[in-house]
Amino acid sequence: MTEKMLKFVDLNLETPNKRDVHSRIDDFKEIYDEFINEKAKEQSSRCSQCGVPFCQVHCPLHNNIPDWLKLAAENRLKEASELAHSTNNMPEICGRICPQDRLCEGNCVIEQSGHGTVTIGSIEKYITDTAWEKGWIKPLKISKEINQSIGIIGAGPAGLACAEELRKLGYKITIYDRYDRPGGLLIYGIPNFKLEKFVVERRTKLLKESGIKFVQNIEVGRDKSLKELKEKHDAILIATGVYKPREVNLPGENLNNIFPAMEFLTASNRKGLGDKIEKFDNGTLSAEKKHVVVIGGGDTAMDCVRTAVRQNAKSVKCLYRRDKKNMPGSAREVSNAEEEGVEFIWQSNAKKFIGTEKISSVLVEKMHLGEPDSSGRKKPEPIKGSDFEIKADILIKALGFDPEDIPHLFKNPGLQVSKLGTIKINLQSMETSIEGIFAAGDIVRGASLVVWAIRDGREAAIAIDKYLKFKQLKKTEAA
Ligand SMILES: Cc1cc2nc3c(=O)[nH]c(=O)nc-3n(C[C@H](O)[C@H](O)[C@H](O)COP(=O)(O)OP(=O)(O)OC[C@H]3O[C@@H](n4cnc5c(N)ncnc54)[C@H](O)[C@@H]3O)c2cc1C
Ligand code: SF4
Repeated sequence: MTEKMLKFVDLNLETPNKRDVHSRIDDFKEIYDEFINEKAKEQSSRCSQCGVPFCQVHCPLHNNIPDWLKLAAENRLKEASELAHSTNNMPEICGRICPQDRLCEGNCVIEQSGHGTVTIGSIEKYITDTAWEKGWIKPLKISKEINQSIGIIGAGPAGLACAEELRKLGYKITIYDRYDRPGGLLIYGIPNFKLEKFVVERRTKLLKESGIKFVQNIEVGRDKSLKELKEKHDAILIATGVYKPREVNLPGENLNNIFPAMEFLTASNRKGLGDKIEKFDNGTLSAEKKHVVVIGGGDTAMDCVRTAVRQNAKSVKCLYRRDKKNMPGSAREVSNAEEEGVEFIWQSNAKKFIGTEKISSVLVEKMHLGEPDSSGRKKPEPIKGSDFEIKADILIKALGFDPEDIPHLFKNPGLQVSKLGTIKINLQSMETSIEGIFAAGDIVRGASLVVWAIRDGREAAIAIDKYLKFKQLKKTEAA
């Protein structure tokens, strides 16, 4: 039994699948992140201050990691927190959910010399959580409010980061969002065991206390037009993320109990937040005591399988067309899922969903990896006669997301998009094809990461400030 499996025993679980999720909703937590005070100092002092901070270079926010590690090692946590906040609007969130193995930690010089990385993410989380506990994180105080306003569409990390940066400068900010709670995928996508919802809620509360106005349950395009918002505000940011699920298009797809990943994860997150979810409460969307099959190999698929484990599923299987080496998801997430009892059926492809009313099984074919395709990755090809069937009470489709048709939804065909449907911006000014309308986050990049959305939001704030200052200057000159 590994050290990590022993942690399950600590939680009174014989095996991961023995969790009774309905009675112990608090156990929806990450079991791998047991970072505690003494460890923070010890880990921080492991940084060799090597002078070639590849960690910093590979952090999309270029956080000043060596300096805040030094401060943490000296127990100067308040200064460390201020430094962490100078480049990042939500360090405790990134500390929890950045795929550090691909970013800062994967490039730590100590890791590369074979001695194990400095656990940068955990220290970042520790520093900021301590700052929250000690009351060092306070709402912004605006000395002089600027009489110009910015409307932000989307309260995900890109919209929130942009809002905070512009508010710091004194602008009036209103954020419009179609969900009932702010946070975007931080609140309804990423599971609670990776990112506890109180962590997101205290951030959004802080922004409200800083004078940022939140208008929830407003879908731009349906309840308010882009034109209306443009008339109301001096500049607009579109930060709507990407939400159109990729489909599998297979026979049997209309059977009951086949769900897109976001429906499954949102129900679970809402349950954790105390909402009444009929489809979960009546068992339809719950994995408890069910054979669960997830299709996909990215981080969303890993979130689904690990959520199903925590919901006390009878079995959890993940179908992926390529092999483990070629999985797009974080290696750490995959190995966590394996240790928690998820069975990966590598190089396998769903062919057909079988059942009468509800799904009861999936017909699967084995694949082998052929010649590289245009992306350079080996193309999975079916092996003739290799079909087999696996039992499924619930099937979750986690094949990724595409952008919605924003020009159509916003009734604004002048808003230019790329071939993939992401909003086109001028990379220097971050402006879209319409003057005064900017865009940031997943809706520009395609499905990406929280840390990139924060970076884009911060850059959009700089661009919008420049644009508004110039606009003001022109107005003054004309007067
Ligand atoms: C299941 C899942 C797990 C993930 N896990 C991780 C992880 O562990 N680590 C990581 O770094 N990244 C993760 N990601 C990716 C990350 O969440 C996104 O890259 C990030 O949230 C993008 O931020 P954003 O602000 O661009 O968009 P979003 O977070 O998607 O926010 C967009 C907001 O816009 C609102 N909106 C959309 N359309 C409209 C409209 N018409 N009118 C009004 N409001 C609108 C939405 O309601 C939403 O609140 C995950 C993604 C998913 C789906
Ligand atoms: S923001 Fe992400 S990549 Fe940057 S230091 Fe923190 S955990 Fe690492």
